[in-house]
Amino acid sequence: MALRIRGIALPGREEVVLQIEGDRLRTAAGDDGEHVIDGGWLVPGLVDVHSHPGTDKPGDEFDLALFREHMLQHRAAGVLAVRSPGSADPLSHRRHDEPDLPRLVTGGRWLATPGRFFEGFGRDVEEDDLAAAAVEEARASSGWCKIIGDWLPGTPPVPLDALTAAVRAVHAIGGRVAVHCQTAEGAEHAVLSGADSLEHGMHLDHALLPLMAERGTALVPTFTTFAKTVEQLGRGEPEHIRDWLRSGWDGMAATALAAHEAGVTVLAGTDSKPCGDIVGEVEWLIRAGLPPEVALGAASWTARSWLGLPGLTDGGWADVVAYDEDPTVRPAVLHSPSRIVLRGRVVL
Ligand SMILES: [Zn+2]
Repeated sequence: MALRIRGIALPGREEVVLQIEGDRLRTAAGDDGEHVIDGGWLVPGLVDVHSHPGTDKPGDEFDLALFREHMLQHRAAGVLAVRSPGSADPLSHRRHDEPDLPRLVTGGRWLATPGRFFEGFGRDVEEDDLAAAAVEEARASSGWCKIIGDWLPGTPPVPLDALTAAVRAVHAIGGRVAVHCQTAEGAEHAVLSGADSLEHGMHLDHALLPLMAERGTALVPTFTTFAKTVEQLGRGEPEHIRDWLRSGWDGMAATALAAHEAGVTVLAGTDSKPCGDIVGEVEWLIRAGLPPEVALGAASWTARSWLGLPGLTDGGWADVVAYDEDPTVRPAVLHSPSRIVLRGRVVL
């Protein structure tokens, strides 16, 4: 007997009846079938667009068992697709697309030029070799690469010409570029280079937001990880680093809101362990002033369309999370999904 799903589908809010065929959804015809979801609100599988499953802390080697554990933590929160912008996996880990685990969009290894990033954790490249390496990582992954665009204050960011050359080279093969930036100058270079996403974007000059909106450059503020970092400040870091982190954190909510208001796509990424805290990130976005519907979209339908993943449509993936109440009206319900279907199988 065919399995069916019935409910009010977000973001369109139309009542839908869908049938599960393998790992796909089909518009249901007739009355036959067992309802695995019968009523409530349906959200296309949540997405964490910034997570690094497979390592617990910088410097660790990639661990496949830990990767699975992290992906199951995501799944328990309703995250059914994860973008990994930078990984310690020395090989493309598209092979980790396993039946029980959320879908994975990989960005290859972190590309780190001298003096930027945790020593030896990413793929170390000279600035002159950045474009070629970026193309290699994008080809070996799901079409993304991740460039560490800057590091600490006082260290110059990747020069604009080197970053722009890398972005152009990756775009030329149909790939996309995520840039880590957390200094004002690094964020400026990321925007001017034409990168596809700013990861963190701390200290981003708001004057750059219209250009981001025009070019379709997304902002992934990763509140979850910075909230933890700021909580632990005062434990021995140099004062100028502490001041820089605190002022960056203090501006983050205003930046996310200004970005949204300027028409920039703001997306939900946690960049944090344990995995599975996407609802916390949605709550940070709401606290920053984004409308709940936009904040939830940042972790679901908006993120999915930005990544080229289907929503709740005929022929789309059977990756669905159901809630008993409308999560845009009562976001707290996001903590307790009533049903999770991944690849056509009920996992909660
Ligand atoms: Zn990260």
